[in-house]
Amino acid sequence: PEELRKIWVGWHDTGAPMRQKYVRFIELQNIGAKELGYKDTGELWRAGYDMTPAEFSVELERAWTQLQPLYDELFTYVRTRLIAKYGKAAERADGKIPAQLLGNMWAQEWGNIYDIVAPTDPKLAQYKPVNLEEALKKQIAAKDPAAAAAFASGTDLTSDAGQDAKTAAGKAMVRYGESFFTSLGFPALPATFWERSQFIHPRDRDVVCHASAWDLDSVDDLRVKMCIEVNDDYFTTVHHELGHNFYQRAYNKQPFLFRGGANDGFHEAIGDAVALSITPSYLKALGLSESEPPAEADIPLQLRTALDKIAFLPFALALDKWRWGVFSGEIKPADYNKAWWELRGKYQKVAPPVDRSETDFDAGAKMHVPANVPYARYYLARIYQFQFYKAMCDASGYKGPLNRCSFFASKPAGDKLAKMLEAGQSQPWQQTLKEMTGSDHLDAQAMADYFAPLYEWLKMQNAKK
Ligand SMILES: [Zn+2]
Repeated sequence: PEELRKIWVGWHDTGAPMRQKYVRFIELQNIGAKELGYKDTGELWRAGYDMTPAEFSVELERAWTQLQPLYDELFTYVRTRLIAKYGKAAERADGKIPAQLLGNMWAQEWGNIYDIVAPTDPKLAQYKPVNLEEALKKQIAAKDPAAAAAFASGTDLTSDAGQDAKTAAGKAMVRYGESFFTSLGFPALPATFWERSQFIHPRDRDVVCHASAWDLDSVDDLRVKMCIEVNDDYFTTVHHELGHNFYQRAYNKQPFLFRGGANDGFHEAIGDAVALSITPSYLKALGLSESEPPAEADIPLQLRTALDKIAFLPFALALDKWRWGVFSGEIKPADYNKAWWELRGKYQKVAPPVDRSETDFDAGAKMHVPANVPYARYYLARIYQFQFYKAMCDASGYKGPLNRCSFFASKPAGDKLAKMLEAGQSQPWQQTLKEMTGSDHLDAQAMADYFAPLYEWLKMQNAKK
């Protein structure tokens, strides 16, 4: 904990020098927003959702109340396990978790501490999530001799041959994502995608590795820009990025101004909805895992997923609530840091590891704040993806617990998805959502259903102590 505290403090020191500039930055943006007819930039940000900014805020809160009981159980369970590991260093009188202990600089996704909080019951502990990294390397090397050298010991990855091998391995990763979409009936990616994308970190220059998907001509010059490594994280990321690319191409028949996501949350949710289909049975079908584990093995897998997906929601909500308050003036510059920790304490129930003051600027240590990227879209996407996933599972004819559904190779699911994607921004998102899911609003019920087995298990664990 001591070392984590030092790292946390070091990282957050990067915020302080931005503080005064950020105050001015907010003023300037608000001048622009007012000229466009908005009260402030926070209202401008919330204006893209076919409802009033006030209604939009209410929507987000409503969805949160649907998931809060699950978050509370997850939180209590994780806190108990952290105290068991770290003792006093993890225990605060106010019941909050010290933010440096959650495996992520912003405590926004907790999957990295899975090993600390994994079930100890030997019956469950035997089910380790599949080691995808190993399985992927083995399969890619076997199928693609050009890529095999990327994993062989002794290969100089900076040589021409090494670079080629790394590129081949990166492309093989993207092929997994592409094949999911083609299994649903979508046409394959164009040849230019494979020629023009950046798949690996080039050896001769510095690049932004943050994965992104591009649509250069608003027709079919699709590309990704990534620095792919062969591992679990990138396996999910390629599905996420291709979700953007397949969306971009699907709406290319729309008039130019309608070539966009139904709202920005939709765009982020497509690939993730598809990636939810990466179930143990899907991995077995691909030959990436040998056996399909029994139903009880769902708990470790669900816990691992919830540490990322559920823990993220209160962070995302707190982040943009803070910015809306900053833009509106409700949060004064003199209280930036106090308000930041009040919101994070209220929603996430996390606390900074050391006392903070108004000489600090902890929000500034999160990339999306200085880079000024709105965050509500990620919150929406986390919830929409389960709505989309359920709709495609239903369309595929799947019956059974939602978390075990994979709609791989289902044409009816693909048709449903294609229809939603092709609509682009041509109608209010509520209508597009209704055609897809039967509901015209953000609804966390599908997400709650997905995690229902975990929720029951967590309640039992928390009742034990
Ligand atoms: Zn994205």
